[in-house]
Amino acid sequence: MPVIKAIDTVLIQLPTRREHKWTGLTEPIGRYIMVKITDDAGRVGWGEAPALKDWGGEFGRYFGESPAITQLVIEKYLAPAVIGVELGDAATLHARMDAIIKGYPYAKGAVDFAFHDLTGRWLGVPVHILLGGKHRARVPVTHSVGLIPIEQAVQEVAKVAAEGIRTIKIKVGVDAKRDIERVRQIRAAVGPDVDLCVDANEGYRTPGEAIRTIRVMEESRIIYAEQPVMGIERIAEVARAIDTPVMADESAWNAHDVIQIIEKRAAQIVSIYTTKPGGLARAMEVAAVCRAAGIICNVNGSVETGVGNLANIHLAAAAAAVTLSCVVPVSTPAAEQHGQVGGIYYRDDLLVSGMKLEDGCIVVPTAPGMGIDVDLAKIETYRVKD
Ligand SMILES: [Mg+2]
Repeated sequence: MPVIKAIDTVLIQLPTRREHKWTGLTEPIGRYIMVKITDDAGRVGWGEAPALKDWGGEFGRYFGESPAITQLVIEKYLAPAVIGVELGDAATLHARMDAIIKGYPYAKGAVDFAFHDLTGRWLGVPVHILLGGKHRARVPVTHSVGLIPIEQAVQEVAKVAAEGIRTIKIKVGVDAKRDIERVRQIRAAVGPDVDLCVDANEGYRTPGEAIRTIRVMEESRIIYAEQPVMGIERIAEVARAIDTPVMADESAWNAHDVIQIIEKRAAQIVSIYTTKPGGLARAMEVAAVCRAAGIICNVNGSVETGVGNLANIHLAAAAAAVTLSCVVPVSTPAAEQHGQVGGIYYRDDLLVSGMKLEDGCIVVPTAPGMGIDVDLAKIETYRVKD
């Protein structure tokens, strides 16, 4: 059986198409750690930690990782612990990572992605097959509009809708009056056929403020309100008061969190990440709990490069509970960009070819491993030299 021989990390910075901000974000997106695992036959698998130090769980329950923290945890603790693990044995991989250091799900997630990529390449199967199979062959994309000026947002959504994207997420949670106006103008720009959702990133100060604001937004027909306030008990208050389903994101990191959300009837929707629970194996556990409770899900993330985004796509394909459109980038290298905007957050990407977009959906790659190769020249181009 082939085993893990070496683990390397690289810090990269992708150029952004334009500024992309949300409530609480203090650093530019796209400065992330890539992880390369090599086996004893010289095969290679890639992973990514889209770690942000200012994105975390509620009331200090979980907290952000910066790229420097992630890199240290991987190099000093995780890598030495998992050298020698047999490919395919995700159980042992996670047991060893959890035994050597508590927490740090983004660092563990990056190792888990690279391990799945490498295992899939060794076995000649795509990662979604390793996760149990394919519930869907195409993943509908939600385009996320950050906290940009309203006029700019309106222009952008019109273009995105024309490109065939059917769902738009609007970042809100800063100023209730302005948020309502953003949603109203975006609805007017895209017409009745595009679904809209809002994400406050815990930005409203009280459940009451969130309830009053979302009730007005409901006039613009929103399909869900994501993380309106901080705290499982507090989103439960919002969920009880409004007709629009509430989605838990910052409140739902792992399967245990979802059990609490179910007990408190705090949300009808959960946003699953590949990173919050610490990798694909754990994300499938979150999806299984959601499915058992009748909670529907999307896959959401931190504007990953193509490396991490491939993990999102395979999770979305393999998890039965993921029936909603997913907030994932349409990872596209510069040579394949011709002015399209939908799902494009960076001017270039780290993959040799872009994700295929059909009718507003990403086609799930079927080649072995993550299914699209990493462009080693791009890794060198965007490597951060310190
Ligand atoms: Mg969110």
